[in-house]
Amino acid sequence: MEQVKCLIVGSGPAGYTAAIYLARANVKSVLYSGMQPGGQLTQTTTIENFPGFPTGVDGNELMELMRKQAVNVGADLRDGIVTAVDLSQRPFAVTVDGNKQLLADTIIVATGASARYLGLDDEKKYAGMGVSACATCDGFFYRKKVVAVVGGGDTACEEAHYLSNMASKVYMIVRKPYLRASAAMQRRVEEKENIEILYNTNTVGLFGDNGVEGAHLVKFLGTEQEEHFDLPIDGFFLAIGHSPNTGFLNGQVALDQGGFIVTDAKTTATSVEGVFAAGDVADPRYRQAIAAAGSGCRAALDAEKFLAALE
Ligand code: NDP
Repeated sequence: MEQVKCLIVGSGPAGYTAAIYLARANVKSVLYSGMQPGGQLTQTTTIENFPGFPTGVDGNELMELMRKQAVNVGADLRDGIVTAVDLSQRPFAVTVDGNKQLLADTIIVATGASARYLGLDDEKKYAGMGVSACATCDGFFYRKKVVAVVGGGDTACEEAHYLSNMASKVYMIVRKPYLRASAAMQRRVEEKENIEILYNTNTVGLFGDNGVEGAHLVKFLGTEQEEHFDLPIDGFFLAIGHSPNTGFLNGQVALDQGGFIVTDAKTTATSVEGVFAAGDVADPRYRQAIAAAGSGCRAALDAEKFLAALE
């Protein structure tokens, strides 16, 4: 059976950076790219805060550059999803795509996080029929239409701003009386005439015969002023944060209350010796591409040191 020194799971900035460092250190490693090659940045537009790109860089382009750089330094990048791991003994037994087996002396988990949904039955009912968690993927379908974005963070503002350039009207549905987004992001949405922010508002359902035609909303939910109303919309976009992708670990690595992998305060070591975590899967706090890339570098150096100590 194939055995590698390090298995890298995930192909966002954390995974690719780890692959670059390990390849340059001559550590035999394999990266499996997972369900969304390139990760979350492939679903964004221009990234203006990744150093080295004075006029910004397209998310897909940035990930393609990272992938090419990893290939150029000799990294072994493969398509496939790591579906299970057995961390009870080293080398760790790894299953890819449900049937392929390999052994790994160390693992770097860089599986990132996936978009969260409100948990309404209607989100499933209208999946692909007006409900989306990716404005840059699906915004195109809403040219000159009316859409709503749920959430008040940076992602929600970014998505609302993006959609406002094609939709005729964008509502932001924000459950608090204020936005959580950074001041710069808030300014960007406030400056757009076709974005209207509905504060103190929750979504309780969606309606429509042929896809989404509107949302059932409640203002001041759970208070005396509670007010129910319907908002006609053609598209409903979720931007309420992300959940870390840890399902394949099947409870073998310690997670925090939010489901993020717990790492040692000073390193990327997890609760299992030889397993390291990098990027959004272990970062409930910063969740930035540059922070993920930085932690991918740290995880690679940690894995390399761990392997050297074994030998
Ligand atoms: P955040 O966690 O920052 O914001 C989530 C938003 O969704 C909040 O407004 C939150 O409301 C709301 N929300 C959460 N759950 C629900 C719910 N059940 N019903 C209604 N609303 C809900 O997530 P983001 O994805 O926006 O951002 C994640 C991180 O990525 C942040 O650190 C952010 O700064 C960063 N980021 C940076 C960007 C940039 O700099 N260009 C772009 C995008 C993201 P409440 O405030 O009430 O909790």
